[in-house]
Amino acid sequence: MLRVLNDFAYLSTYQPRCVMPYIICEPCVSTCDTACVDVCPVDCIHGPIKKDGSGQEVKEPGFDKTGKQLYINPEVCIDCDACVPACPVEAIFEESQVPEKWKSYIAKNYEFYGLQPPAV
Ligand code: SF4
Ligand code: SF4
Repeated sequence: MLRVLNDFAYLSTYQPRCVMPYIICEPCVSTCDTACVDVCPVDCIHGPIKKDGSGQEVKEPGFDKTGKQLYINPEVCIDCDACVPACPVEAIFEESQVPEKWKSYIAKNYEFYGLQPPAV
């Protein structure tokens, strides 16, 4: 009986894993203002260097942002959309909505975290 109750409790709280995360694309490159980091409720936006940081390195004196960007961890993103309006350069898209010219950024976000990107 206890097992049945435990199973029911688990199922009633089950949340499907994020299957369509958000992706940071080309406009972030060399911008890196980190506004998105501040609004993400699950702390899944990191980089441009530290994979577990909050973008603090871009604020360090002398840091060169050229060619660098932040990345969303697709295994942690919960598809909440909070980061999209926060980005001043419209760099963030839901994975299925990434413009064709920036499709390569899907793999960049996955690979920053050592994850296998989806086939596109
Ligand atoms: S969609 Fe939500 S959870 Fe995903 S990166 Fe943006 S703010 Fe974070
Ligand atoms: S995605 Fe937008 S808000 Fe986030 S660091 Fe890049 S430019 Fe800034």
